[in-house]
Amino acid sequence: MAQQLDSNLTKAEQYLAKYRNQTLGHYIAGEWSLGSEGETFENLSPTNNESLGKVVKGSAEDVNQACLAAQSAFTEWAEMSGSERKKILHRLADKIEERAEEIALVESMDCGQPLRFMKQAAIRGAANFRFFADKSPEAKNGLSLHQDNHTNYTVRTPIGPVGVITPWNTPFMLSTWKIAPALAAGCTVVHKPAEFSPLTAAILAECAEAAGLPAGVWNMVNGFGEVAGKALTEHKAIKAVAFVGETVTGSMIQAQGAPTLKRVHFELGGKNPVIVFDDADFERALDAVVFMIYSLNGQRCTSSSRLLIQSGIKPKFIEALKARVENIQVGHPLDPATEVGPLVHQSHYNKVLSYMDAATEDGATIAVGGKAIDSFGNGNYLTPTLFTDADNSMRIAKEEIFGPVLTCIEFESEEQALEIANDTDYGLSGYIWTSNTGRAMRMASKVEAGMIWVNSENNRNLPSPFGGVKMSGIGRDGGDWSFDFYMETKNICIAHDTHNVPTLGKL
Ligand code: NAD
Repeated sequence: MAQQLDSNLTKAEQYLAKYRNQTLGHYIAGEWSLGSEGETFENLSPTNNESLGKVVKGSAEDVNQACLAAQSAFTEWAEMSGSERKKILHRLADKIEERAEEIALVESMDCGQPLRFMKQAAIRGAANFRFFADKSPEAKNGLSLHQDNHTNYTVRTPIGPVGVITPWNTPFMLSTWKIAPALAAGCTVVHKPAEFSPLTAAILAECAEAAGLPAGVWNMVNGFGEVAGKALTEHKAIKAVAFVGETVTGSMIQAQGAPTLKRVHFELGGKNPVIVFDDADFERALDAVVFMIYSLNGQRCTSSSRLLIQSGIKPKFIEALKARVENIQVGHPLDPATEVGPLVHQSHYNKVLSYMDAATEDGATIAVGGKAIDSFGNGNYLTPTLFTDADNSMRIAKEEIFGPVLTCIEFESEEQALEIANDTDYGLSGYIWTSNTGRAMRMASKVEAGMIWVNSENNRNLPSPFGGVKMSGIGRDGGDWSFDFYMETKNICIAHDTHNVPTLGKL
């Protein structure tokens, strides 16, 4: 394994050399630029907190240039036939696949996610483009709605230039998930990637360029949320904002976009319950519980960060869980053996570590982990953590920690499980483990969440709707739901010339 790590590090260095030695800029109107003000920030690797290079801190003027570019490219892109757009987007997917190894290695070094998961980043990113490319020719099709004397039909048109703002947890996949449907619908895009992990967004822009996407159709501006992100959400040319990130940022974006009446689509935070009943398939439930909080460093919006465990199965389940969590391999993200890597940034790392004190202060037990690890040098490493003896009033049960940290809460009955599951401001996803079909159906309809998985971990299907309720989001992505967001629906009503037109002023 050490040999494999060395070889991965050598390859990663080759790909990273061009960032270490230069300043990463914006991609606006088909050109790479260093922005109007020349200000930069250091992009640090979570593996050792050393710089991966400088990145331009986008100004409001840089964002303005990108929005104007998206505006002037809009009509031609929107009027291009869906089948032509489909060809370009498939070419883009080809380019992503050609650079799959580079995307995986760069993404792992930039955001700390283990390579074993990031190997999928390019494959899933390309799949997002192919799925929406295939839907592009039908995007404009609407419904036919008949009445006796009239026929109504609807058509859809792309809403205009849109802003896409993404977080750092799985940056490449999430960017493609938002940008692919926007482009397939006929919208032009200004993308603001997360400042903690900007590198693969640049690779994505290079893939778009290589695929022959016309200049201005996709623009990318680096920088901080409070300046570049804010300017994007306030710009008049931008008709809608697709945002993935924290709930509190979503509220700010809604306020910032209000004066220009922005349409918004929000995929926000979660504190998702996994509810394991006494009659669950023990081994499958255990595998899923471990996977859904300790994979992707626990930095996953749909992670099941609250385990609700029924009292009958609890002692045996917690013992087995402890053994598994103690065994999880923490290490360098490029080591193939690594299951949990370093957290994205020191500020986030310190936030996650602060919950260790919060747990003990509130009366929970740190059954496993809870410590920073310094044996890998100066990276943001910590031990996978398991909190037991918790109740739902504690901070570790209420707040989104967004790390490899699981809070276990005991329940007695179905009613109590439901009450605890829904006692949260969030409502993104929920997971139910039981062999009783009736109970699964009752729980699935009553747990307040946008997505429920029964006897499964998060298993994605691109045509299915993805999104949250309560403070976890507004709107749905996936399938035709994405086009509903990126397009306007127009109703056209045609008379059959059989009805009486009302007459006024006629003698
Ligand atoms: P964040 O909200 O801090 O930042 C996300 C993006 O918003 C970044 O690009 C940032 O620069 C930008 N931003 C910040 N302030 C802004 C402002 N005032 N105006 C415009 N843009 C602004 O989120 P994060 O810490 O990068 O990501 C983690 C969060 O993302 C977690 O809460 C997680 O649950 C959530 N998330 C949700 C989903 C989902 O599908 N529901 C998926 C992934 C991540």
